[in-house]
Amino acid sequence: MRQMLEAGFDEVRMDGLGNVIGRIGYGSRSLAFDAHMDVVDIGHEGNWDFDPLGGEVKNGFVHGRGSVDQKGGAAAFVTAGRILKDLAFERDLSVYFVGSVIEEDCDGLCWKYLVEEEGLKPDVVVSTEPTNLGIYRGQRGRMEMHVHFYGVSSHGSAPERGVNAIYMASRTALEIEKLNERLAFDGFLGKGSVTISEIISGSPSLCAVADYARIHLDRRLTWGETKESAIKEVEGLIEAMNAKVEMLHYQETSFTGLRYGMEKYYPTWKLEESHPAIQLAARTFENTFSKKPRIDKWTFSTNGVTINGYYGIPVIGFGPGNEVLAHAPNEKVPVSDLVAASAFYAALAFEMAHQETEK
Ligand SMILES: [Zn+2]
Repeated sequence: MRQMLEAGFDEVRMDGLGNVIGRIGYGSRSLAFDAHMDVVDIGHEGNWDFDPLGGEVKNGFVHGRGSVDQKGGAAAFVTAGRILKDLAFERDLSVYFVGSVIEEDCDGLCWKYLVEEEGLKPDVVVSTEPTNLGIYRGQRGRMEMHVHFYGVSSHGSAPERGVNAIYMASRTALEIEKLNERLAFDGFLGKGSVTISEIISGSPSLCAVADYARIHLDRRLTWGETKESAIKEVEGLIEAMNAKVEMLHYQETSFTGLRYGMEKYYPTWKLEESHPAIQLAARTFENTFSKKPRIDKWTFSTNGVTINGYYGIPVIGFGPGNEVLAHAPNEKVPVSDLVAASAFYAALAFEMAHQETEK
């Protein structure tokens, strides 16, 4: 926020959830850059070869937690804002710079707030999550479900009188393993997947048949798979049982004190390579770096799940750093990537404004 103010942005403010929103320009069309400001924990400190919170700049890299995931993107877009200001950017385009919150806990929630509560609905959003300076155009979606199993307890000395919920959950677990093998495949995004990440059970006593069990499913959704289709598949496995599928919800209090949440459904999204936004990015890349871009996808999930998945706003992925270092020890971002990303973001604003006046 301070850096945006120092750079002379036309407007800088914070919304109710804690997102920082900077703006340059007063155009009717709009472009937004998004970088989430929160980071994950450092993990086991012994795995790091340097101080994870040191922010040391050495040998051409910025070192530390969050350098790749993804404060590098924020640093680069603030610099891009400076460039736009230095070049007196005055076109029919409003450029927004969003430092978003809570992404690591609930990807996309911050943009649900921006779109639904702030009315910010840009024509194009650039996610600055790390892409190794490639142009990314999609990712698999995900969702979280519980399956509850209801049995009947009886004395542990006479299990035949009861119905054991753990046996129901176990049979289902083996079916989930098989289900994972036959999920849909997409040539670009890859295969959908499902795994059980937790199983818990309840019983009136350790000398009783368990009358309750619950499994937690981590479902990754490829193209064509939706919340509805994924729930139906699991319901098909438990038809004959006293069991039910539950979609989970996220609800948390932001540092501003606001309670906010959403369903834990993060839809799959992708843009075709021929999509005007991807073409705009590719053209900007070629003009800026005099070479063809690498166009690819993220393995992990981003705020694109709501920006494009919920609201259909075109998303371009372009960011400094290598995604494999996200959430890993020894996270570091090349300074040269930060410089290149800054140049690309500023050039993209000019290219988009130029394209609009051409029309
Ligand atoms: Zn992350």
